[in-house]
Amino acid sequence: LDIKNEDLKKLADLGHGNGGSVVKVEHLPTGTLMAKKIVLIDAKASVRKQILRELQIMHECRSEYIISCYGSFLADPNICICMEYMDKGSFDNIYRKIGPIDINVVCLVAQAVLEGLIYLYDTHRIIHRDIKPSNILCNSDGAIKLCDFGVSGELINSIANTFVGTSIYMSPERIQGAHYSVKSDVWSLGITLVELALGRFPFCDVDDDDLSDLEDLAITENHNRTPTHRDSFMISKQEKAKRMSRRKSKGIPNMTASSADPPSLSIIELMHQIVREPAPRLPSNFDDEAQEFVDACLMKDPHDRHSPRTLLEYRWMDDARDSSFDLKEWASTF
Ligand code: ADP
Ligand code: MG
Repeated sequence: LDIKNEDLKKLADLGHGNGGSVVKVEHLPTGTLMAKKIVLIDAKASVRKQILRELQIMHECRSEYIISCYGSFLADPNICICMEYMDKGSFDNIYRKIGPIDINVVCLVAQAVLEGLIYLYDTHRIIHRDIKPSNILCNSDGAIKLCDFGVSGELINSIANTFVGTSIYMSPERIQGAHYSVKSDVWSLGITLVELALGRFPFCDVDDDDLSDLEDLAITENHNRTPTHRDSFMISKQEKAKRMSRRKSKGIPNMTASSADPPSLSIIELMHQIVREPAPRLPSNFDDEAQEFVDACLMKDPHDRHSPRTLLEYRWMDDARDSSFDLKEWASTF
């Protein structure tokens, strides 16, 4: 499918992350609804072409657990990626809307993510690198799929934002500068599962706004720096003002430093906590099978952490395979 920007009619904003924004569009020649991701890049023409070549892999992905891609093109200074539109949105928005996610659904999310990771790695040698609730999508057919995987090293390098590629879902070894492996994705999956089951980010007792702040902030991908370098955490003035007014309107004291200081020690403390403290766990009111699985994902030493294929053999994943839970019916409730 040869997609041209002028054939796309914008219908709604779907959201934005630290690499760009996503809009719902209609492809007028075919009437297909799509999610168009717009990424602002800072790269020369040869690199842009290289990025487009690397994005080709996305078109070759054929899995029920991976978002399909209709096409990508350059629209200077952006790169646009047109992908399958998932009408029930991402799991972060779902739990913010309906509260903690039913553990039967969380179980099926775990299975879908493992299957997606195994497909990406075995078929295309791709490591996802950004597993988190906002990159796990759901539609009204009850399908659960992954998006935003790291197909293009050049794209990651060219995104006009220093904080790209880092997040509060990062594993302890990544925070300490180790290379990415599929096991780092398994850690991020563990954090994601606890977050969905609890209906909040599992590390600290922060409210929603603080959470998204932490996520916006992230730390830089620079291995020569340690998270104590305060200048790694600078955020823009506008962003700071936005956060302060959000807090003020909710009567929350300002956690980040005053506008004259380098902001937010809380993100640094979170990173320290991830490295130093015991990993989060599911509370004891959840079934043993679920707790056992999450504990296995959240082994702090990557050598002790299992691969996605081994995790599929866990008891909780037998529950997923035997599950009679109706995801389609569930998705119709919100
Ligand atoms: P992030 O994943 O960090 O939130 P993104 O820019 O990747 O930032 O996406 C912004 C939002 O757009 C996501 O949180 C998600 O809710 C929504 N979104 C992304 N892709 C799709 C899609 N294919 N279908 C529907 N919604 C999507
Ligand atoms: Mg995303």
